[in-house]
This record gives sequence, structure tokens and C-alpha cells, in this order.
Amino acid sequence: MVKYIFVTGGVLSSVGKGIVTSSVGKMLQFRGFSVTAIKMDPYVNVDAGTMNPYVHGEVFVTEDGGETDLDLGWYERFLDINLSKENNITTGQVYQAVIEKERRGDFLGKCVQIIPHVTDEIKFRIRSAAEKSGADVVLTECGGTVGDIEGLPFLEAIRQMRLEEGYENTLYMHVALVPILDVTSEMKTKPLQHSVNELRRIGIQPDIIVARCAKMINRDVLDKISLFGTIPKEAVFCSYNVSTIYKVPLILEEQGMGDYMCRRLGLTFNYLNIDEMERWKKFVESIENCKHAVRIALVGKYAGLADSYVSMNEALRHAGTACDAQVLIDYIEAEAFEENPKKISDLKYYDGIFIPYGFGPRGSLGKIMAIRFAREHNIPFLGICYGFQLAVVEFARNICGLEGANSTEIDENTQHPVIDLMPEQHWMTYKGATMRLGAHKIVVKEGTLAHKLYGAVEIYERHRHRYEVNPEYIDTFEKHGLVFSGKSPDGRRMEILELPDKFFFFASQFHGEFKSRPGRPDPEYYGFIKSCLDRKQDKEKQEF
Ligand code: GLN
Repeated sequence: MVKYIFVTGGVLSSVGKGIVTSSVGKMLQFRGFSVTAIKMDPYVNVDAGTMNPYVHGEVFVTEDGGETDLDLGWYERFLDINLSKENNITTGQVYQAVIEKERRGDFLGKCVQIIPHVTDEIKFRIRSAAEKSGADVVLTECGGTVGDIEGLPFLEAIRQMRLEEGYENTLYMHVALVPILDVTSEMKTKPLQHSVNELRRIGIQPDIIVARCAKMINRDVLDKISLFGTIPKEAVFCSYNVSTIYKVPLILEEQGMGDYMCRRLGLTFNYLNIDEMERWKKFVESIENCKHAVRIALVGKYAGLADSYVSMNEALRHAGTACDAQVLIDYIEAEAFEENPKKISDLKYYDGIFIPYGFGPRGSLGKIMAIRFAREHNIPFLGICYGFQLAVVEFARNICGLEGANSTEIDENTQHPVIDLMPEQHWMTYKGATMRLGAHKIVVKEGTLAHKLYGAVEIYERHRHRYEVNPEYIDTFEKHGLVFSGKSPDGRRMEILELPDKFFFFASQFHGEFKSRPGRPDPEYYGFIKSCLDRKQDKEKQEF
């Protein structure tokens, strides 16, 4: 019998529900259970692909090409599983499906309503994702905060699931903020109490409460939460601020949460997956005890919101941990270099320059300036997607002498469209889910840096783009020393570039960060951080 854990949030969004959900999954894996995780997003968008990363954070791309909420990234990283686009359910998808069915005549004669038609569709989607995964336990996180109008059908659907699946197979977990008042340092539970009341009003009584607080909450306050929440004292836990989020499963485990959940769901285990727990603990320890440090300049367009680059941040740090190096990232607005070109020389203080994904003209010149600086000063450089495309533009302008070379995304009328729309994109008018998405095969050229890093001649990496290197210019680039060390199997699409005479100059059309996992860094990120560290140590030796 499949067990379902439903996670709701109270008081505020962004209190770390996604991390708690991932940690719950991790604690179950420590006990040898297989898990999957679903995120329900009550917004009307069909997927996250059309949303501004500056507001909503990055769009996470799944192996099967889903453009999903960034929480799926946390689930994948914590649980080391590949999820499908079906693991992200949105209001847009649900209504689209219900309306399509109505038009087809599936509900002939009926008045189509939120209950049961919309809620049935939500339950159907949860169950089918559960079934496809074959997992023992299915975690379903409901986005937003209890009390949001748009979240109601989702909460109603999970309320019904208890009736249908049974008490012993369902568990409601509520994660809510406990703020600390500045003046008195008091931990205030009132907002949490109200959010529990709101949940009860719709018919859901939580089984577990996770109080999210800056500090560990003392026993009396936890007991108060138990009293007002009408749940046993041992069912209240605290997720407090920790030095690394990968520690959250361990602090919840310490409070007995793993055992409590299993008892409550009748999940019997005769062994703890000690290996996995040990591996996780070691990883956490290695993050905290890095001997070295490297400083990276991330030159981007959404630099003000770290969540815009969350998978990239994590991939850089996974790579750092593997090199025994803490990775310090400075987020630099690319436009700052355009406004004040002299500022570019600040980049010489960094051990590495990283150009992330991006869209549109804003800041593109600043990024090109940063790439040129990296190339000319032989500072390790990694470019991802837009970073790859702009590295091609920079090379075209400054090495191949193609004056005014550009991407047609930036200048439609450029004389040298070195980056251009992929042919199949020309007729594309719809913006939703029409990019080149998800995992595609890449053939890696033997004897190149890419080959060394990946240790394979065939790899699969995740994509999200509309533009590509214009095949008409490939000859020119190669003649001038640019090596395309990864290509699509038909050889038409450029996937990886490198400059062999540089310390580390590497860029990819794909996004390695989506496959990076704690303890198993992605090869391109690893190669980058390793050379940042090597170069830094070389420099230090010379200075010494
Ligand atoms: N804007 C570029 C494209 O659409 C790059 C996209 C990206 O960086 N993910 O091809």
C-alpha cells in the first residue's frame, strides 16, 4: 500500500517547505524506503517556463523536458532521483485537462464543478505520478500558504485523499513560521496557531507540525504548539537555521521525526540504510570543513535574487566540496560593466568567471565584456547556455574579426548572426514549452578537455534554449582555434566549446547544473572549480 505525506505551509511562503519535504524524503531513504515527490503549484500558468526567474526563482528542467518549479530541483538533489514533468501539478494543467474533457463530452449532461471534477483531476494526477514512480512513499507539497484562494481546490483534494486512502496511509504535515520578536527575543506562535486553524476550517487536522524558526525552539514553546495544534507533543518539530540546508534532515532526525513518521504510517523497517545516512553525514561534514576557498564572479542579469540561479549555486558548491574548497559567489549585474567599463578590471580579483543562463539583450554586452576579460587574462571561465552563446559572440568579434557579430536574440539585423534561432523555432509562435527542452544525446570528441571531464564519448544533458551556433560559421571558428568538443549526434548542433590553449575556458549549450548532486558533482562544474583552485594555488606559489 502506498503511503502519502502531504505538506502544507502556513504564515508565509518561502519558509523552506521544499527543504522540509526533501528532508522528509531523505529520512525515509535512510530507512530504506523508496520515495517520490510531487509539487502542486496553485498558479494558473501551465508550467513555470513562462515566469520571470527574477520574481519566482529559476525554472528547473527535468530529464523529460518539464519546465518546473525550483523545488523539484531540491527533491532531485536531496533524494538523488530523476523526476518527471508530471511531478509538478499546476492549476493551469488541471483546468486545461478538465476543460478539454468537458469539450470532448466526457461529462455530458453534468454541470462541471470544482468539486468533484477539478479535485478528481488533482487526485488523478497525484496518483498517476505515484504509480509511475513505484515509490513506497509519495510526498506531495502544496505550494503557497494555507488561506490562499487559489490553493483551496488542492487542499480539498488532499482532504478527500484521507477518506479514500485511509488514515494509516496518509499523513498531513504543516510547516509554518515562528517569528522571533527583535525587541524581546520572544518566539511567537500565534501566526502558526492561526494557520493551523485555517487548515482545520477546510477540514484538515495536521498530524505533524514543523515549526520553522531562526533558532531551535525551546520545549515550552513546542508544547504550546502541540496544545493549540491538538497534536501529540512528540509530533512537533523545529526546523531551525543551519549552516547548510543539507543538514536539515539530520537535525529533524535528531529530534526523532523519522521514527515518528514511520510509526504513524505503520511503515516497518528492519534496518536503517546506514550507508546512505553515513554518506549524507560525511557530505555535510565535508561542506563545513573545507580547507580551501575560491571566489567566483557570477556575471548575470538576475543577480539580485540568488534563487534565480539556485541549481547553479548548488552545482558550484557541490563541485567545491569535492575539491575541498568553499565556493564564495559574488553576484554581479552585467549591466554594471556597460555603465562603467573600467569596472571590468575588478574581475582580476576572482579565481573564476561564470556566465549563467539568460534571455534577451539586457546585460548581454556586460557578459561579453566579462568573457573577453576571462579569455585575455586566462582566468578560468565557465559559460552555461547563454554563457556559451555569448562566448561564441565574443570569439567571433575579437578573434575572428567578425565585426558586429551577435546573436539574433540581441540584434535581429546583425551582419554576422553567429547565434541564430534553431530552424524548428522559426515557425514557433507559442511561447509555452516550445524551447528545445530536456535531455538530449551529445557526442563528445575524444582527446578533448570535455572527454577528460566526462570520461565518456556519449553523454545526456538537459537543455532549455531556442538559439544555437549558426552552422555557417563553424568552419571559421574552428580555423581560429575554437574547439567544439561536444556536438549533437548528427554533428549539426554545437553543444560544448573549449579553448585548449587556456587554463580553463569551457562552455556548454546544455545545463550541467540540473544533474549535479551532493557528493556527485557535475563534470563541467567540477572541472571549473578544480581549475579555479589550481590556478589560485599556482599563483600563491609564485607569489611566495
Ligand atoms: N536565450 C538563449 C536561448 O534561448 C539561452 C537560453 C538559456 O540560457 N537557457 O537560446
